[in-house]
Formats: sequence, C-alpha cells, structure tokens
Amino acid sequence: MPQVKGDRYQATIPDTLDIQQRAELVLNTMTNCTDPKNNYAPYDNMYVYRNPPILRATTMINGKYMETTALLRYLTGSTTNQHVDQAWRNAYLEVFSGYPWWGVDPGRILAWLGNNYRIENNPCWLDLCKQVIKRARQEVVYQDDYCYYPDTQGAMPTGWDATYGGWTLQGLTQLYRATQNTEALELAGKVARYLKDHAMIFDSDGHFLARHPSNNGLALHFHHNGNVLEGLSAYALAANDRELASFAKSSYEWARATGSPLVGFFPEYINDWPDDRPYVDCETCCTADMIQIAMTLSEAQQGDYWDDVDRYLRNQFIEMQLLDGKWIDQMVASLPPTPLEANEDADRVSERLVGSFASWATANDWYIEEQPGTTFCCIGNGGRALYYVWEKMIRFTNDTLTIHLLLNRASTWADVNSYVPYEGRVDIKMKVTCDLEIRIPEWVKPNEVVGLVNNEPRRLVFQGRYALIGSVESGNVVTITFPIFERTVETMIGNIPYTLIIKGNDVVSVDPPGKWYPFYQRAKYRENQVRWVNRERFVPTI
Ligand SMILES: [Zn+2]
Repeated sequence: MPQVKGDRYQATIPDTLDIQQRAELVLNTMTNCTDPKNNYAPYDNMYVYRNPPILRATTMINGKYMETTALLRYLTGSTTNQHVDQAWRNAYLEVFSGYPWWGVDPGRILAWLGNNYRIENNPCWLDLCKQVIKRARQEVVYQDDYCYYPDTQGAMPTGWDATYGGWTLQGLTQLYRATQNTEALELAGKVARYLKDHAMIFDSDGHFLARHPSNNGLALHFHHNGNVLEGLSAYALAANDRELASFAKSSYEWARATGSPLVGFFPEYINDWPDDRPYVDCETCCTADMIQIAMTLSEAQQGDYWDDVDRYLRNQFIEMQLLDGKWIDQMVASLPPTPLEANEDADRVSERLVGSFASWATANDWYIEEQPGTTFCCIGNGGRALYYVWEKMIRFTNDTLTIHLLLNRASTWADVNSYVPYEGRVDIKMKVTCDLEIRIPEWVKPNEVVGLVNNEPRRLVFQGRYALIGSVESGNVVTITFPIFERTVETMIGNIPYTLIIKGNDVVSVDPPGKWYPFYQRAKYRENQVRWVNRERFVPTI
C-alpha cells in the first residue's frame, strides 16, 4: 500500500474540535479492534458490561472498515498499523472475482475501489471498477426505468430486504464520483428509482416505511431507512436530478422532526420499537446519516442546512466518540469474573476502544447500563461521516474558496483556525490568491460581523449566510469576529426533559448529567478566551 503524499508541519491552533485528531483516533480503534491471530480480521461486537470487557466475532472482509480506513488515511497521512488494512486488502483481492457487489459490505467496497483509484491514481483500480460494474449490470433485473437485485427466489425485494440496496446505491454513486465511470452512474440511477418508487421504503412524502420483524411486531429502524435516503441524496447530487433531490429534502425534513435537531439526537427506532426497553437511544449511524444528507442537500441547493450539520456534529455526534475508556474498567470491577470463550479477546479492551463511536447512547451519556457497548457498524459509519465533513466543509472552485463550517482545518488553499465556541472568531491563513467567502452561523446577525484582512478592515457583503470577503492573496491572514453567547434551553430529547446551556451551537452543559461517560464536559468552553494547543497538521496532495 503506498503512503499518502502530502505536507506535514507543526502548528499552534485553537484547542477546539479538530477533525484530523478525531480521525486518527478512529484509525486507532478500527485497526486495533482486530484479531492478530486471525490475520487482523475486525471484531464485530464490543461487550463492555463483562468482567473483563471483551471483543467478539470476526469478519475478515468488513466493507465499512475498508472504506473508512482508506479515507481516514488520506485525511491524516497516518501509516500507523497499516499492515492491518493491507491484510484486509489482500483478503478481498484474493476473492475479488466471486465477491458479491450488492449489500452492506459490497456496497462500501464499491466506494472503496473508486476511492483507491482517486487516492492512489493507479489504473489497476480503474480496471477492477470496470470489472465489478460489468458484473453488476449483468446480474440486475431490468424493469422499465429501474432495476433491482433479485432475491433467492428471483423476486423483487421490498421493505426491509430492499434497504440493503442503500449501501449499493451509495457505493455506485461514489465509484462514479471518483472514476467518472458513466455505466456506474446509469446503474445507480436505475437503482435509485427502484429504491424511491418501487421498494416500499418511502411513502410519497418521503416518510420511512421499512420495518423489520421482532417479538413486539414490526419495528421502524431509523438507520436502515436513513441510509437509503443518504444514497438517494448522493445520487441526486451526482446526477443533478432536481426532482429526486427535492424528494430527499422532504424526507430529510420529516426524519429531522423525529429527533432533536438542536443537538443531533436521532432515535435508533421511530415509534415502533422491537422490545420494551425503558429508554430511547441514539445510534451513531442515525446522526451520521443526517449529517451526510444535510451536507448533500446543501450542495444540491435544496436549502442551507449547514447549521444543522454544525449542531449535529459539535454535539451528539462528536460526544458519541469515546476519548477515554478507564471508566469501563472501573464499572466492571464489581461484576463477577466471566471466563473467556474461545472466540473472545479480553486484551486491553478499554484502551483499544478509544476512538470508537457508541451504538446505544442517550442525550447525556455514551453508555446505557447493562448494554453491550458498541459495534463495528457505528465505528465504520461514524468515521466515514467524519471524513465527509472534513472533505465538504471547505470547497475551492472557480477561483473561489468557500468555508461552510467554522472548524479547525488545514488545507492546500488555506488553514482555518476556529476559536468557536470560546470566542466568536476565526482566522484564515491564505495559501492561494482567490476570492473568499465564509458562512456565518445562524445565531449571528450579518451587521454584527467584523472582517479584517492583515488587520485592515474589509467591508463585507452578505449573500444568504455567506460573508463575501472578496479578493485575498496568498499569505494574507483573514480574521472574522462576531458575538457568541450562552442561552438556556429546556427541551425533551428521547422522552427525557433536559436543561441545556448552549454557547453558539455547542452544548456546554446538560442537566441531568450522564453517569458512566457523561457528555458535555465542556467547562473550558465557557471561558471567553481561547486555549491553544500544538498539533501536527497534514495536508494531502490533491
Ligand atoms: Zn450503527
């Protein structure tokens, strides 16, 4: 596997949310929660309510990990544990010709194949993409203007069984984006029409319909439906299909109302649950879906949803990433010891889980008592969403640099240093000469924004929420300042009343607080003066 090329340098940056640092932690957990005795196959399940905590079950080819690892290595330039993803790559390439292309892992692998071509620029990936698309075109059943992958009886899957096509649609669309393979786009279009109009996953208003059977009757799982919606919105953007984008917008706005858009909490199940659990939990995958859909709809000009992305990302989503596992060892110390089964691994589990995303979180805690802990699914999808926020938060096109989110970010075009939420301030160190526009978040009135270029005042013009800075030169430092303040909000999240203190878009306090791994330990953000930290920045060569 070639190393990602790019620039690496030390920088002093504000001690605020830093996606590059979070991405390194995801790589840590994905490559460490693997079985070294079994060729580094990833573990599927992480049980923390056991003494000792354990990792269990392995699948050698895990598409979610393969796609996300490659993306996050591009983002970070990290080579840590690269022998692990090399082993996954070898295992997949050995079975390539007979490996399926439809479903969860195969869908993610379609994207991985395309991304490998984009990142490594090696034509062998293009050849593999062509082979897999050729096979896919032969295996689908065509009907009018749509197509589907038949079940074992040759019939068209609908409802829950059809939702697995969401992963395939995402994979085909991303493969097209990365390689410009028009056959992949054409196939994606037919799959999109199947999923929207014939698969019984959505009603005509975009409400989710696909339920799975359970002891309590049929259960409406957010992520299986939300993941299809993510695929539809990504295809609509890639194909510039405005009708489909408009449908995805209606569906997104309906899904948004099932949770708390203030913090990005979306329930694992909507209304119909598979059991009588005494809580409403949020699965990382639900929030990850909503982040991706909101960004895609904004790009497709269906609305400006960047504040949704900012609120989801800064709050529920990023709090669902585990930064410290010591509480797990403390929690299980009082449980009776359980002997290990042959397929269980108890080595340093709490350490290996650092960087993982929660599968069952509340609005104030990573963990719900006696629940397993987490699974590979949320780690893979959480890491993938993190990558796409990093990719899409800044855009350079037609000699204009647009910054959508006020987060720390090093790039080829400029380095962004965000003081938010300590202070309402962002510094942008320009590396190219171009026009610059910066999106100002929703709590700020345009006339409150002050812009400076090399400390000289710059008159700002607003277009929607974007402050148009105008022409800036390489080497300029652009500073934007605006008011930021705290407000108190009483709100219901997952059937529980909470009192939140919110500064800008960041929750800085939640009451009642969590118990095991409590969210929002953010007293430092309530200081009104930024703290600084030294970090290594990596900027991949485009
Ligand atoms: Zn999940």
